Amino acid sequence: MTNSTRCGECILPDSLPGVNLDKDGTCNYCRDFARKEDRNPHLSADERLRRLERLVAPYRKRGREYDCLVPVSGGKDSMLVLYAACRLLHLRVLAYNFDNGFQSARARENIQAAVKTLGVDLITYKPNEKLLDQLFKLFLTRTGEFCTPCNLIIQAAAYRIASQNGIPLILSGGSSRVFGGIQGVSQSKYADRAYFKNVLQGHVDFREAKRFVVENPWKRAVRRYTRTGPNLVDVLDYVYPGLEQTRDLLEKELGWRPTSDELEHGDCVLNPLKDYLQNRKWGYSEVTQSYSSLVRTKQMTREEALDHAEEEETRQPPAVLESFLNRIGMSREEFEQTKHRHFTEFPNYPQSRWYRMGKKAVALMRKVV
Ligand SMILES: [Zn+2]
Repeated sequence: MTNSTRCGECILPDSLPGVNLDKDGTCNYCRDFARKEDRNPHLSADERLRRLERLVAPYRKRGREYDCLVPVSGGKDSMLVLYAACRLLHLRVLAYNFDNGFQSARARENIQAAVKTLGVDLITYKPNEKLLDQLFKLFLTRTGEFCTPCNLIIQAAAYRIASQNGIPLILSGGSSRVFGGIQGVSQSKYADRAYFKNVLQGHVDFREAKRFVVENPWKRAVRRYTRTGPNLVDVLDYVYPGLEQTRDLLEKELGWRPTSDELEHGDCVLNPLKDYLQNRKWGYSEVTQSYSSLVRTKQMTREEALDHAEEEETRQPPAVLESFLNRIGMSREEFEQTKHRHFTEFPNYPQSRWYRMGKKAVALMRKVV
């Protein structure tokens, strides 16, 4: 265990990189959150839903097969998005599920039950397993994490499936109300095409895996301006009844059942392993980060969050480790070495001067126009 002090408002420990406590013992994430809350007027649930309705209205067109694509994992967040798209927004939906070979049985059952109840088509995308295993091993060996390949493929495949089917809108569920990943700890905040390319360099030909990542930021910006690619809207920014209420709603309406712990991050059986990798470096993982978000957004008391987090942090190698190492062909000794690696050793876009200059130029143009 690490020696650390936790924020007095949420439960983030100052031993995590990038977490600083002020003289009152409040962390920078709580301070940022309070600043944002002050800036944004508080809207009622009805008003937020109306905003979302106005936002998606232009995407509804007669004669089109589908209005939107909803990526689903079987966990409660994506199931809520699917529910909202069908029952609240009344859109014609194509659901899409990414199968990395480690999906939990419960997650799969939840998806099947939901698409049946809501009457929507489902596409499952399962990428080349041999290449995926090679990427898992490469990322774990070089960067100490293995989630990036899946995170990027989920996104890239969503854009591709939407484009191929002429679908103008992707509805996702990745709001900060639910997940509070931390810069420098959660690779999901860091991973992009540049990072992916840099990790592959000298090991896997990028041309072979290019389809697994979205286009570069310039091409995507052009698509946004010319409206030639699908647009992405985060539904949970507008519709989010809260943890308990979401769970009750999904159980009642979709026959949904929890995938695992309170956080429902059991849609992938490798999740405990991801937590363990973060835990062995800092003594805490995304579990503690997510509970901190729940405290900040008043969905749970600090005491409850602390109890859950302490119980659910994976401090010992999880059972799935052995079968995972077997599948990707890595020895236990090689695995132990990976704790010395970190993803920040490989630059992503924000590390590049050109990217930062480009961003500034775009911001300036927006002001002028
Ligand atoms: Zn805090």
